[in-house]
Amino acid sequence: MDLKSLLLRALSIYSPSHGEAELARFLLGVVREIADEAWIDGAGNVVAVRGKGAPVTWLHAHMDTVVGPLEVRDEGDVVRGRGAVDDKGPLVAYVGAFASAKPSGTLVLALVTAEEDDSAGTEELLRGGPPRPDYVYVGEPTDLHVAYAYRGGGKVELRLSTKGGHASSPIYGNPFEELYAVYVKAKEALGHGERYEDFTVTPTVVRCGDAPNKVPVECVAVLDVRIPPGHNCAELEERLKGLPARVRSCVDPAEASPTNPAARALVRGLLKIGVEPKLSRKYGTADFNLLISLTKNIAAFGPGDPKLAHTEEEAVSVRDVEAAARALRHAVEELGRWGSKGQ
Ligand SMILES: [Zn+2]
Repeated sequence: MDLKSLLLRALSIYSPSHGEAELARFLLGVVREIADEAWIDGAGNVVAVRGKGAPVTWLHAHMDTVVGPLEVRDEGDVVRGRGAVDDKGPLVAYVGAFASAKPSGTLVLALVTAEEDDSAGTEELLRGGPPRPDYVYVGEPTDLHVAYAYRGGGKVELRLSTKGGHASSPIYGNPFEELYAVYVKAKEALGHGERYEDFTVTPTVVRCGDAPNKVPVECVAVLDVRIPPGHNCAELEERLKGLPARVRSCVDPAEASPTNPAARALVRGLLKIGVEPKLSRKYGTADFNLLISLTKNIAAFGPGDPKLAHTEEEAVSVRDVEAAARALRHAVEELGRWGSKGQ
């Protein structure tokens, strides 16, 4: 399978969250050739199965990207375009591993929708569908590191309103100033900091006012809050009590053991292809946080520099995509030999 041309084709089909249908149809056509069974489920996920029996290993990656199309460019080893890093480089590596592995047991490829939004695709897989996994690999740009932990994350809405008034006599106070004060209090309440172990609070949306000569009637801000391991969504709610803040959505942090069988098989796969294995914990939140409820034998892995994800500079090395596919193939075959109990 020529992974570079597959990547260029995948990049040329724009697929923001909840707009993956065309890409899904294209990928179904590709995996149908390889799989024993392949289908598109109720959430628009492409699901493909090879082999049968234990152990069951899932290769999971997401088809959607953040919004904002980018020109697709082929610069030799480097390929650019929206989603090159997050998540089409990893996705193509996973398709490559799925196609080339000779697993004993069952290999499931799950290419999901809406990871960048409400994780509708993965939520559907949690409810049922393909055989339940003994091992899961989550395709994300980790720069070929084996990632075993993700922080949690929540969206917190701050909403302040006043009676408004003429801008020349703002007798009721100005909700913009109050909004800012509440933001500062929220940061204090969560102990905002920049270390992995800290909560991180980032304002992402701020809306205030509708006319140049009126005091704003209402101000709304959305804070993107990241939650470190050892803390959770309930604590986030608790710490914000008393503030005009509402937690709109939240996912708990997820931490697997760095020596779980999925991680170890991948470390061995990397050694086999001559890449020095590195372990890492991720600052973000991903479908990893949901999939860990299926098994703690889980690792996130993929080509691409995570710092380029969601930027206008998304670019990935084709050599790294191919390396990721080879390492994963070895890992999947190793897990097949170990069986469902791991080693
Ligand atoms: Zn991603």
